[in-house]
Amino acid sequence: MLEQNCQALAQRIDAACRAAGRSRDEVSLLAVSKTFPADRVLALAALGQRRFGENYLQEALDKIAECAARAPDVPLEWHFIGPIQSNKTRPIAEHFDWVHSVDRERIARRLSEQRPAEMAPLQVCIQVNIGDEDSKSGCKPDQAVALARLVAGLPGLHLRGLMAIPRPLTDPLAQQAQFAQVRGLLTQLSSDGLAVDVLSMGMSDDLEAAIAQGATIVRVGSALFGRRPAPVSDPGAVE
Ligand SMILES: *Cc1c(COP(=O)(O)O)cnc(C)c1O
Repeated sequence: MLEQNCQALAQRIDAACRAAGRSRDEVSLLAVSKTFPADRVLALAALGQRRFGENYLQEALDKIAECAARAPDVPLEWHFIGPIQSNKTRPIAEHFDWVHSVDRERIARRLSEQRPAEMAPLQVCIQVNIGDEDSKSGCKPDQAVALARLVAGLPGLHLRGLMAIPRPLTDPLAQQAQFAQVRGLLTQLSSDGLAVDVLSMGMSDDLEAAIAQGATIVRVGSALFGRRPAPVSDPGAVE
């Protein structure tokens, strides 16, 4: 089933790129493996997937260790995409390659300080809260430029771009309107002189709209791995 899901997803991404007049290699797939065991990660890795996204820290740390132990020759790239509590930044800085969910100064400073010197800088996207006023995650759009400037100046971090999880809408044009706002913000960062090349947006239900609006990383979980068990609760949601 994994292989079929993978092929179906590849076709969706291909078609969305073609429809948007974009080259297929501009869009990278982040496989969101939260709630799924290391077995599924390794099965997908055997099909060639290398980038994996996780939301829940302890679950992720266990899975990263298990994958490294069972497949030491398969270098996986781990992306933290969940809400970050400030007392949990150290293991994130020590075990991940990317963080998509930096949304405030305190988190950025701690991740930079705690990034081990012998590792490459942590690749960082600023999470912006677009459309979803109720969500506590993500900085306000008008704070994004200042936060991006701060991240760009921190030695342990490498600013890459923006991440957003807009409100789930079913109308593709309404989805696109939200993603267009994120794209507009990225343009603002560029015109501010910041070197940014990543728009992390689009999930199982709206990746076509995201690709139409310039997504360079789509984060896909259920369309790949199947439906997730209902979340227990989100321990990362409150500080
Ligand atoms: C769970 C999650 C995804 C994947 O969502 P699907 O709808 O299963 O594709 C992407 N991004 C973030 C931040 C998530 O938490």
